[in-house]
Amino acid sequence: MTRQVGLIGKPLKRRHSQVMHDAAFDAAGIDARYVLLELDADAVAGAVAEARWSDAWLGLGVTAPYKLVVAGLCDAIDGDAAAVGAVNNVARTPDRRLLGFNTDAPGFQAGAERAMGHPLAGSEVVVVGAGGAAHAVVFACLRAGAARVTVANRTAGTAATLVGRFAEVGSGARRAIGLDDAGGAFEAALVSADLAVNATTVGMVDPGVTIPVDRLPPTATVFDLVYVPPETPLLRAARARGLRAANGSEMLIAQAAAAFERWTGVGGMADVMRAAVAPLLADPLARA
Ligand code: NAP
Repeated sequence: MTRQVGLIGKPLKRRHSQVMHDAAFDAAGIDARYVLLELDADAVAGAVAEARWSDAWLGLGVTAPYKLVVAGLCDAIDGDAAAVGAVNNVARTPDRRLLGFNTDAPGFQAGAERAMGHPLAGSEVVVVGAGGAAHAVVFACLRAGAARVTVANRTAGTAATLVGRFAEVGSGARRAIGLDDAGGAFEAALVSADLAVNATTVGMVDPGVTIPVDRLPPTATVFDLVYVPPETPLLRAARARGLRAANGSEMLIAQAAAAFERWTGVGGMADVMRAAVAPLLADPLARA
């Protein structure tokens, strides 16, 4: 029997995950495929039930707009996913239980530490954005022992809510500010940052740059969660200034490798996935 993992979402514009997981199944000698399930809302519960009852299923991936509804159909939610407030994968146990988990936080940590060349512990981090991805980023930084995390968002109140959510995580200093706050709080935070993260959709959806890289010290790393296009104007500016800079592809790969290990018990697939997805990542127009 060919096993499967299905990605539930709508629309499903990209096939990066499918390419990575199928390459990993092949490399691990596992007879399984990663299938794209672009479903209308009224079909989601049925697909999740099918994944529960049929032994063909190893688990599910979940993306917008169904993360909440699928989380509600799980039997249990991992601690990380509950903390971050999002389920992006589901594991199926042999006794037909569905366990929701989240791999964005460990994926970000792996990607950021690879880009920085050192651990997040002790680092000063500035995160721009306060949406779903920023939740995973801030949680990962605080849990990894970052010394200071500043969350700067266009809508200041959303940044404050995010920081409040993680009051019990880690012991580093944390602060929420608006990108346009009077007094230059954002630019002041950049001056001593080890890591500056763009966790907004700017560079992919809206044009422009969220981080004035000329304010960063020469030792700083710029990490842009966007990976389509592969080089955003932010990353171009950071590299022109001689800073270390990386897009979100390593986060994408690391979170996929973590999910694969959870579904199959086979770890160490990041290199296989990186090689498989490289042509798609290099294509600025990569779509399904
Ligand atoms: P989201 O929940 O919709 O949040 C969007 C964020 O972007 C909000 O903080 C929003 O600020 C901000 N924003 C949007 N337009 C802006 C603008 N013109 N100027 C300033 N801020 C703006 O999105 P998300 O799910 O967090 O995703 C954010 C990015 O991360 C996306 O590009 C996504 O592709 C990427 N991502 C990458 C990975 C990976 O593995 N590499 C994983 C997850 C997400 P307001 O609150 O003020 O609206």
